[in-house]
Amino acid sequence: MFTVQDLTPLFPKSRGAAKDLISIRSAMTDSRKVMKQSLFIPIVGENFDGHNFLADAIKNGAVAALWQEDHELPWEIPTEFPVFFVEDTLQALQETSSFYLNKVNPIVIGITGSNGKTTTKDLAASVLQVKYRTHKTAGNFNNHIGLPLTILSMPLDTEVAVLEMGMSEAGEISLLSKLAKPEHVVITNIGESHIEYLGSREGIAKAKLEILDGWREGTFIFDGDENLLQPYHNTYQAISCGFNTTSTIVISDIECEEEKSHFTVKGERYTLPISGKHNVKNASFIIALANALNLTPEDIQSGFNHLEMSGMRYEKHIGKNNSLIINDAYNASPTSMKATIESMHQLKSKNHKILVLGDMFELGKFADELHRNVATVISNEVAAVYTIGEHAHQITEALQTVHPEIECIHFQNKETLSNHLQDKLTSNTVVLIKASRGMKLEALLNDLTD
Ligand code: ATP
Ligand code: MG
Repeated sequence: MFTVQDLTPLFPKSRGAAKDLISIRSAMTDSRKVMKQSLFIPIVGENFDGHNFLADAIKNGAVAALWQEDHELPWEIPTEFPVFFVEDTLQALQETSSFYLNKVNPIVIGITGSNGKTTTKDLAASVLQVKYRTHKTAGNFNNHIGLPLTILSMPLDTEVAVLEMGMSEAGEISLLSKLAKPEHVVITNIGESHIEYLGSREGIAKAKLEILDGWREGTFIFDGDENLLQPYHNTYQAISCGFNTTSTIVISDIECEEEKSHFTVKGERYTLPISGKHNVKNASFIIALANALNLTPEDIQSGFNHLEMSGMRYEKHIGKNNSLIINDAYNASPTSMKATIESMHQLKSKNHKILVLGDMFELGKFADELHRNVATVISNEVAAVYTIGEHAHQITEALQTVHPEIECIHFQNKETLSNHLQDKLTSNTVVLIKASRGMKLEALLNDLTD
């Protein structure tokens, strides 16, 4: 990747940086994960301070470290071990990643949005790797720490870097965009996630649009069905993708099966190995991106065929009595919960459908209203809705009044919910599990599968 000596111009205050070149193969903030030949970057977190773990990091293979000046360096660290003293290790991590990004100089793709970032990132990487050496964000490493670490884990010969950019507050995407300087950017959608901190959907849109702050003016791809992004429709380099016929790229003739979806874009028919209209939309962003990077429709289809998705997103498991359990418990927001419920309605192979819905977090004063609103997309094709959490009872209560024929129960804890649910599993049952990360609803899986 680079050498310890490369860091000297960046961080002039150091000790132990020997004349012999020492190469660095990776950078780590977690001392337990430090690998051979790595640079250890201790971060001061809410619960832990990485500076307490330098000795462990060295044991695990660190060959140099950054160090925040206001911390005392433990006396037992050998004087020949290279340490670079900085004012703020978080900022130094970001500076190190900028230095490395400049050195590798790949085409950078930045992806943000309220929902669908990880899916779109996985789709982008699967498609672009057909033609380019592609590196992508691992899992959900999408914030001010994860993004620089993603950059620092990129092989030297990377041609395209696909970077997910996440946020919970205004200003965060701006920082990530200025750091990664994406050539092409994607805004997947504007939902209601983090409305607690951003006040309104307009506030959310503004925060996502910060991705243009570091943009190098390649293409700007976005959800053409979102009213708040309409002003960008006819701007230079903008490509909107949507079901709406005013979009630059119009998606038509969608057919969703249990395991895949088919759709048409610019006269070409594509098949995606995942279900759901929202995923078809995510795929259309990638068609726009792939066109900009000179891939043919055949290349794109070949990339879709080899899609590798990150875990717990519409993950299918065979449940007890040959039922089908869909674990989508990685996270939830009003938009993503509604989109996933709608894709359940499209499932044809099982007709005893059960929704297990938990709380969606960070909705502040809008929480009750936004939970109640989920009920509006549930039709009587669903047999039962079970909720759990502080706010999710709003869903069952609202639904009960419009659809008394649906079995609606709110549970106080996972155990009673699980007991009730286990009795319902037949070969005709499909269960969807969806909630915010903090609800940890995937814990139910153990009881529901053999
Ligand atoms: P996070 O903020 O947790 O990183 P994310 O934006 O990366 O989330 P994904 O993990 O890709 O999003 O998808 C989360 C869920 O959002 C999916 O399981 C699906 O229910 C829903 N979803 C995906 N794409 C869209 C979309 N374009 N519009 C609305 N909902 C979507
Ligand atoms: Mg994500």
